Amino acid sequence: MPEGPEIRRAADRVERAVRGAPVRVELRLPALEARSGELDGRRILRVDTHGKAMLTRFEGGLVLYSHNQLYGRWYVERHGKTPRTSRSLRVALHGPEKSAYLFSATDVSLWQEHELDTHPFLAKLGPDLLAVDEAAVESRLEDPRFARRQLAAVYLDQSFLAGLGNYLRAEILFVAGVHPTRRTRELSPSHRRLLAEATCAIARRSYRTGGITVDERLEAALREDGVARRGRRHYVYGRAGHACRTCNEPIERVDLGGRHLFLCSRCQG
Ligand SMILES: [Zn+2]
Repeated sequence: MPEGPEIRRAADRVERAVRGAPVRVELRLPALEARSGELDGRRILRVDTHGKAMLTRFEGGLVLYSHNQLYGRWYVERHGKTPRTSRSLRVALHGPEKSAYLFSATDVSLWQEHELDTHPFLAKLGPDLLAVDEAAVESRLEDPRFARRQLAAVYLDQSFLAGLGNYLRAEILFVAGVHPTRRTRELSPSHRRLLAEATCAIARRSYRTGGITVDERLEAALREDGVARRGRRHYVYGRAGHACRTCNEPIERVDLGGRHLFLCSRCQG
């Protein structure tokens, strides 16, 4: 599933393509088909994200909510050019020069701005991962709601920070040097600080680089050595059996609650 940084990058592309001028709107989901006319001809003011949810804000207080879940995917094309895909079209937004298309997503709905706080998914979300600072993450880590739980669970919980997901969890915990089975309340103040720093740094780096979480200098060195993009993207995620970039021990993969978790037990001991 795309995580917060990928969704924000998709929102940036959609926003650049269709913001500002009146758009022609096609809503192809059965529950929404009859409502295309409510949006048709309106201007898009901005495309916001909250974690993995996208909020396309139209003039007149209308908001198109979409969540990509596993299969949803946005495409941007020249105006009117249909992307080559066998997926099912759900939403098309045609601006004067470009068109943005959402395929395969099923969780799409239309809201009045003033009703959005009653949205069942949005109401449960914590602050957006890309919008928080380190102090805010530290205070989330001190919040009694998350105190008794293992970091492995907290770092997938959208009510802790919206936009977290499986690769970010592995990378953040590795960079902070904390073991995923540690409970939040067991963190020392210095580990809490390290974790808050890693949370912000890794999320922002991933947004900036399009999903690369290793430090820019290390990534450049790996590229120079001829390592393919897949092999230089992450510290631990997807690297089971490969040498840790810090200590050379093999990266481990454990299955927790049906999700793969990658770690280095020496660095995160
Ligand atoms: Zn290591």
